[in-house]
Amino acid sequence: MDLLEYQGKQLFARHGLRVSSGRAVAGVEDAVAAAAEVGYPVVIKAQVLIGGRGKAGGVKLAEDEAQTREHAGNILGMDIRGHTVHTLWIEHASDIASEYYASVLLDRSAKKPLVMFSVEGGVDIEEVAERSPEKLVRRHVDPLGGLTREQAVQIARDGGADADVLEGVADALTALYEVWLQEDATLAEINPLIVTPQREVRALDAKVSLDGNALYRHPENQSLSDTANEDPIERRAKEQGVQYVKLDGDIGILGNGAGLVMSTLDVVAQAGGRPANFLDAGGGSNAEKIEQAVELLLANDAVKAVLFNIFGGITRCDEVAQGLIAAFQRIKPAVPFVVRLDGTNDREGRRLLQEAALPNVHAASTMNEAAEMVVALAAGEPVGARA
Ligand code: GDP
Ligand code: MN
Repeated sequence: MDLLEYQGKQLFARHGLRVSSGRAVAGVEDAVAAAAEVGYPVVIKAQVLIGGRGKAGGVKLAEDEAQTREHAGNILGMDIRGHTVHTLWIEHASDIASEYYASVLLDRSAKKPLVMFSVEGGVDIEEVAERSPEKLVRRHVDPLGGLTREQAVQIARDGGADADVLEGVADALTALYEVWLQEDATLAEINPLIVTPQREVRALDAKVSLDGNALYRHPENQSLSDTANEDPIERRAKEQGVQYVKLDGDIGILGNGAGLVMSTLDVVAQAGGRPANFLDAGGGSNAEKIEQAVELLLANDAVKAVLFNIFGGITRCDEVAQGLIAAFQRIKPAVPFVVRLDGTNDREGRRLLQEAALPNVHAASTMNEAAEMVVALAAGEPVGARA
């Protein structure tokens, strides 16, 4: 679960990390009022779940009301690489002496938290890592001991932070580590972490991803899931209690059980296809549930063909077939479906499908066969074996 900058800053502030005071607004007049409250000069920032807003024109300084009106008007509704701006963050502008970089994340291969720090902040950190890796300090932290004061100061020193702000940077790293750990974040990043001319260290940007599976431990963070910025299909899936992840291919995938769906993605990729989504319909597949799942799949315009992969266990294939038939009578999909039914009552299920003679539905009995059929169909090639 990715947070908008201002939401990340709220978490930062809760853990004693310094941020500028500001207001989130959704309209030009509110922006003007917010700017007056935080005091000029202000910086007006597009709140979207993507970086590089500055370069895209989504971060502007304003000295007065006229400039606030102009920039707020331009940024609201702006499209930043596919993300529409609905919210602005207005904060009191900072004077900047240096721009550093800091982040904490989990290094899965080392099974340890990783703290990164660089004095080359404010720019694309991947570039720094590539161009001059020695300028990016990477330090693993003992997961039980946590980030010690000594280690935090050492990281700041090794990264080349100015001598007079070593303590300030160490404070920021310590607070950032606490955010990452206590809020169950998967990533906590500050770019830039600035040093002001008064030598204060402050987070000017925030990129925080929270572990959605740990959200139950943080009821106070529930409201941060910014529904307006979520993919609309993923939001609908969540409301229906269905696991759906949008991918960038053109083959819709539906299965029962996360493991089966993941293997289906692999098999389709192996057959040369590109999955459009991950969708786990879960156990027990009545008509209504299948109808909802099919609607979710087809809500993505990119889908050219669908692979329906069901392995019957507790879920009975004949029930799934009935659900599919009922769903198809109502929805009448325009794209071809390949249905693979295997397991409990599979023969009965396939017989039901055959009798229903649904147009555009093809039956397969193995996963490989199903994958090859759906890849051919997505490419507009004809296949045999109608259900
Ligand atoms: P990003 O482009 O999406 O990473 O957005 P940032 O929040 O990092 O802002 C981009 C850049 O705008 C920063 O690197 C700063 O150079 C500049 N910027 C942001 N806030 C301020 C501010 O308060 N004062 C000044 N002078 N520059 C700022
Ligand atoms: Mn940034």
